[in-house]
Parts: sequence; structure tokens; C-alpha cells
Amino acid sequence: MRYVIAGNSVATVAAIEAIRKRDDKGEIVVISPEARTAYCRPLITYHLAGQVPAERLPYRQEGFYKAQGVRVLYNRALEGLEPEKGRVVLTGGEKLEFDRLLLAIGATPFIPPIERVEGPGVYPFTSMDHMEAVEAQLKDWREVVVVGAGMIGIKTAEALHARGVKVTIVELLDKILPIVLDEASSAWARETLEKAGVEYVLGDSVVAVERNAQGDVKGVTLRSGTFIPCQGVIVAVGVRPNVAPLSGSGVDINKGVLVDDRMETSLENVFAAGDVVEAYDLILGAKRPIQLWPLAYRQGLIAGANMAGGRKRYVGGFPINSVGFLGFKVASAGLSTVEPGVEEESFEVMVFEDKERGVYRKVVVGNNRLMGFLLLNDTSRAGVYSGLIWSRMDISLFKDALVEEVSMPEACRLAAYGLEPWSFESMRDFRRMGWALFPRSYRKHFTAMPSRIEEVCAFESEVCTI
Ligand SMILES: Cc1cc2nc3c(=O)[nH]c(=O)nc-3n(C[C@H](O)[C@H](O)[C@H](O)COP(=O)(O)OP(=O)(O)OC[C@H]3O[C@@H](n4cnc5c(N)ncnc54)[C@H](O)[C@@H]3O)c2cc1C
Repeated sequence: MRYVIAGNSVATVAAIEAIRKRDDKGEIVVISPEARTAYCRPLITYHLAGQVPAERLPYRQEGFYKAQGVRVLYNRALEGLEPEKGRVVLTGGEKLEFDRLLLAIGATPFIPPIERVEGPGVYPFTSMDHMEAVEAQLKDWREVVVVGAGMIGIKTAEALHARGVKVTIVELLDKILPIVLDEASSAWARETLEKAGVEYVLGDSVVAVERNAQGDVKGVTLRSGTFIPCQGVIVAVGVRPNVAPLSGSGVDINKGVLVDDRMETSLENVFAAGDVVEAYDLILGAKRPIQLWPLAYRQGLIAGANMAGGRKRYVGGFPINSVGFLGFKVASAGLSTVEPGVEEESFEVMVFEDKERGVYRKVVVGNNRLMGFLLLNDTSRAGVYSGLIWSRMDISLFKDALVEEVSMPEACRLAAYGLEPWSFESMRDFRRMGWALFPRSYRKHFTAMPSRIEEVCAFESEVCTI
């Protein structure tokens, strides 16, 4: 049996481990355009900032591939797929046959139509190559424009700021972290940027990169006509599933590669996992790309197991993020941007705010199920909230107290028996009550899932291990 895996990142590592659990003899070949072992992509901005040393970047070392009996074809990319012949086409026209194929080729940065965006001084920021290219330019950059105030844009802006560069963020929408924050929390984020001296422009977009006669960047022009001088531009307006190498292959693609709950594509024996796929979103109840490390890992595990004859199913995932920048900490999941007060009929939004401590806690409830949360600065409840989303349990008993300054077991006792939160009686049953509240499925997720937000998303402080 020959397993061919295109891509060499987290989904691939998980798939290798899952295959080897079931098949220690089959040949595994990995196709890796980047000449390096799998690395912790979410750490590249922290490395640029000088907060994470180079030795913490590899997710797996060369020894891992050796120990697992994996042959890695470095500097080669998947360029085509001939499913009827059971083979892939690689760089230079080389062909490689497979019995099972995994597409784990990730996502590519989206470059919007901006005049003169092609050329030196303009970079996306999604790979080690981008990071090294930007780092090499730092000696010549005094001012940089970061296009996009999403997760990657903000983290890159923070890193450049830490390296002493004057940063201006330009965001088309009217919020910082627009797909994560609501109005109130975005205001807090703006305040954080202002205090740190990072400039930003919201509700505007870069329409042209201005270059001098030598082609070097001298600034950008915005739709409003504003000119911002800079020597470098980072384009961070999002990523798209990397489906270009699959065109004409016959594999079903919408925005990403479509997979069933076994992570198999529309082509037999061809599986896909990670940022390249469109998989089930538990909250929306539909398939869509959700480009997150823990989901890529879990999808890789499931794909690998099924490629080797297993019967694992992917139940779905949902967006879940934890990001810290300039001392501002945000954890969010699901429908975190629903505004309090303007909720649609189907949602209830509860908010707890303590301006003095900088704490903002919001939950979004739909049909008595937790559909999303947003936590600023005190992110300690992220694990419990994400467990509640996972479990899809009915939270009507304690939903009103969910954001309050009492723990959830206490909230339930209060709701159920009207007891004082810190009474001896409440405390005595604290632990038992806590676990008893959650169904088995939840407990399993809470204790064993690799998607516990504190473990896998807190890349700023921990080595990215699963
Ligand atoms: C700066 C940054 C910060 C991030 N922060 C977070 C975070 O805090 N939390 C979080 O959950 N997620 C974060 N992410 C997203 C996370 O890194 C991705 O979801 C995850 O890496 C996806 O893994 P993957 O296995 O699908 O592939 P990727 O990590 O996208 O890697 C794709 C692999 O495919 C290879 N490849 C590309 N084209 C081809 C081809 N034609 N043939 C063969 N191989 C190919 C690439 O070389 C690479 O090895 C961040 C991403 C970035 C860029």
C-alpha cells in the first residue's frame, strides 16, 4: 500500500500518526514544496517579534519522519491529479502512483486587486519564507502598511511594532478583528493600538502601491485618496483554500475541497484535510472552510485513520480563536460578533463588563444552546464555554448566569435551589455538581479533545504541541 500525502504541515503529521497506528508496513510519501520539516505556522509572527526562538518553530523534526518510515520529497509540489490512473503529477512533470492520497496542501494568501501590488517590498505573511523575506527587509523599513486587521494582520503588525517599525493598519471594514470582535470590544482593541502607537485606518482600502523609478515601495494610496508613506507593505486580507493544483482533476470543489464525514473527497481513495477543505461547521450546520490549526490536526487524524482502513468520522468544528496583541487578550468562538441589544429574534446575548479590570464577557445563545462567546482579557472561561458549544447541551437552567462572576456549577445551584453562591453547601458539592451537569459527550471533549482552546490556541505562550 502506498500512501501519498501532498503537503507537510499539521494535518499531514496527524495523518502520518494515524496511519502508523493501523499500518506499520505501508509506504508513506510526503510531498513538500518547502524545504523544511512541519513547523508551527501560528508562531511565525512571534518569531519575527523576537518572542519565540528558532528552535521552537519546528512542529516535528527530521527524526519524526525517519521514525515513522516516511519518505519526504522536499522542493516538490503537487501540480496535478490523474485519479483514473491513480497518480499525481509533481513539479517537473514527475508522476507518482498512489493507493491512497491525502490532499493537505493548506491555503494560499488572497491578494486583492491593488495597482502595482506585484513587485519588491510587498509580502503576504503566512509562511516561513515570507517571514524570512520580511525579516531581511527590516533594516531598510522605517514605516510599513499592513493591509487587513484580521488575526494575521494584527499579529504581524504587533511583531513589526516590536521590531521598531512604525506600523499603520488599513482595514476595509469598520472594526479591528472584524470577524471576531463586536463594536464594544473593537473599541477596546482600538484603544490598545492607540496606546501602543500603532496607527490604523478603518473603513478604507489600499487601491495602489506607489513605487519610485527603481520600483521600490514609497507608499500606498487609499480609496479615500489618502497617501501613507512606507517602504514595505504586508497584505493580510485572508487566505483561500489552495485548490489551484486540483483544477481539472474532477474532485468536487466549492470554496474548498468538499469532503464527507470520513474526510474522503468525491474521488475514491482521495482524502483531504486542513485548510484546503470545506468541512462541517457545527454551528452553521453547513460546510465551509474554517482555517484553524486544531481542526486541521483533527481532520488529518481522521483522514489518516480512514486511509488505513479505519472508520472514524468528523463530527464538525467551529471557529475558535485566542489571540493576544500588545497586552490585549481575546478568546472567541462561534457567533462572537452578534451585537448585544440588536440580536435577531433567534439569539439571546448576555454581557458582563468591568471596565476597570478590562474584562468583557459575552455569550450568544440560540435555542437554549451556546452558539458563541467573546472574552476580553480574562479568558479563563474559554475552555468551559467551548465545551458547552461542543456538547450542544441545553443551558436554559443557567444561561442567565453564564457571564456573571459566579462559576457555572454555582450558577446552576442558584438557579435550581436559590442557594447562596459561596455557602458551605454550594462549595461542598462544587466538583461533583460541575461534572454531573455535563453529559458524557461533553466530558470527553473537555478532557480529551485536542481542540481545547487553552492548549492549542495559546500559541503566544506555549510551544504548539497537541
Ligand atoms: C500567521 C498565522 C497565524 C495563525 N495563527 C493561528 C492561531 O493562532 N490559531 C489557529 O488555530 N490557527 C492559526 N493559523 C492557521 C493555522 O496555521 C492553519 O489552520 C494550519 O496551519 C493549517 O494546517 P494544514 O495542515 O491544512 O496546512 P498548512 O499549515 O496551511 O500548510 C500547507 C502545506 O502544504 C504545502 N503545499 C502547498 N502547496 C502545495 C502543493 N501544490 N503540493 C504539495 N504541498 C503543498 C505547504 O508547503 C505546507 O507544507 C495561523 C496561520 C498563520 C499563517
